[in-house]
Amino acid sequence: MSSPVIDAHTHLHPPRLFAAIRRWFAERSSWDISVHPTEPPAVADCLRRAGVDRFIFFSYAHRTGIARELNAWLVETSRSLDRFGIPLGTVHLDDPAYLEDARLALEAGCAGFKIHEDVQRLALDDERFIPVFEMVEAHGGAVVAHVGPIPWDYLPGAGLERVRRVLTRHPRLSLIVAHLGVPDTSAYFALMDAFPNLYLDTTMLLAASSPIRPPVDLLPIGTFATRVLYGTDFPNIPYAYESERSGLTKLGFGPEVEAAVLGGNAARIFARFL
Ligand SMILES: [Zn+2]
Repeated sequence: MSSPVIDAHTHLHPPRLFAAIRRWFAERSSWDISVHPTEPPAVADCLRRAGVDRFIFFSYAHRTGIARELNAWLVETSRSLDRFGIPLGTVHLDDPAYLEDARLALEAGCAGFKIHEDVQRLALDDERFIPVFEMVEAHGGAVVAHVGPIPWDYLPGAGLERVRRVLTRHPRLSLIVAHLGVPDTSAYFALMDAFPNLYLDTTMLLAASSPIRPPVDLLPIGTFATRVLYGTDFPNIPYAYESERSGLTKLGFGPEVEAAVLGGNAARIFARFL
């Protein structure tokens, strides 16, 4: 049996939040992402037509007071898509009941959490995350982290140090660093031997017309093929969905590496949720 295609990094948000995000892109960036739909069934249709077998999706609590409601929406949306899309939940550490929010999200069917350091203004190595990461270690699934303010600003090495601290505390946690860890990609690959549950996702780094360029050559993807996940950021991308996948094929690693990156690795990490 050929291995599945799993897009491990996509976004669905409740309509009002999605409209606000789209406004932000329209006013503050040069990316034209308006051609892609935002309604969950339409997004799912696009992915299905592109040959995707399952997708992992998330939103994020950019402020306090919304995480629990967001998680309920994510779980309900997944249910309405017959679990074709699997949600990761969100927590905000300044919410007094954030641990209860985390527990409820996992119980309801979230396969871990998405943390967006920049948008949430939260550091991955904040000690308040420790019990949350322990829950994910026990529950299975993963934490997807957008580390540092990528791609708008950069503090050399700081994000990488936060990741190292978290993995040292939580060696069993599957931690997926988004966007190939740009611009610290080489340093992340160098950490992989020491941390067997560290992963990178390809999101926006392989598409030929992506505004984010990889800082290094991508040969280590072939060497660490079991540790890289295909992701796209769909539907918030200023180019065609197919570009990320054809970008992977063009790297010429061959069918085995491609199958692992396109879905084999995600199928392993998210096994109990698929
Ligand atoms: Zn994203």
